[in-house]
Amino acid sequence: MRKKIVVGNWKMNKTVAEASELASAILGHLGNGTFLCEIGIAPAFPALTEVGKVIGSSDIRLAAQNCHYEDDGAYTGEVSVRMLESLGCAYVIIGHSERRQYFGETNQTVNLRVRKALAEGMQVIMCVGETLEEREGGITDKIVTEQVREGLKDVGDLGGIVLAYEPVWAIGTGKTATPEQAEEVHASIRATISDMFGEQAAGNLRIQYGGSVKPSNAVELFAMPNIDGGLIGGASLKAEDFVAIVKAAG
Ligand code: PEP
Repeated sequence: MRKKIVVGNWKMNKTVAEASELASAILGHLGNGTFLCEIGIAPAFPALTEVGKVIGSSDIRLAAQNCHYEDDGAYTGEVSVRMLESLGCAYVIIGHSERRQYFGETNQTVNLRVRKALAEGMQVIMCVGETLEEREGGITDKIVTEQVREGLKDVGDLGGIVLAYEPVWAIGTGKTATPEQAEEVHASIRATISDMFGEQAAGNLRIQYGGSVKPSNAVELFAMPNIDGGLIGGASLKAEDFVAIVKAAG
């Protein structure tokens, strides 16, 4: 039985004070309840330290939104995995479509980052997903399979990996993939993983769905057999909505 995982990707939103406030509000809405799913939040880099203090030893895990693949050096504006570890990050999101779209991330650079994060013992959420043009061109499966194969090239063990299927046309657009559309791609990703790493690894791998997940559609998405939680953008910026989505995951 795979443990579902719900992670809030706050993107480039919230000052340090606002981020701390949001983290406190999420803790407040979670209350003392016990949850069967794993919960994470990914504030922007400047807020990691303070948000880490707010969530303390609660059940919420701290995640970063990106990392570089070198330990240190002349890479202005970049952040290494060891730096993130020193701030208490348990997860790092790699290959988000906004990184691919606006910052030149490729399957090859995703792979470098994934392997570096894993080598440092950090858990990875690796994002894949097709654009609207690719979906309409009937090449969703080809694109997503390539992203999975190339992103995980030379990765020996999937223990530290979570995948996030995020159709680009559904991110921040209010258009959600139907549970059936999402399930079809999740099942295909799992088949690719089985081919690459074996059936057992594929059965254990968690694959989140991301793309306009809201409290109103989370239950039916998370009920699909191959959907193991969500990567949540817009709705994670409202404590009440994020916690409602967490609750939908059990
Ligand atoms: C995301 O950016 O990972 C995401 C899924 O965004 P949204 O929920 O806003 O579509």
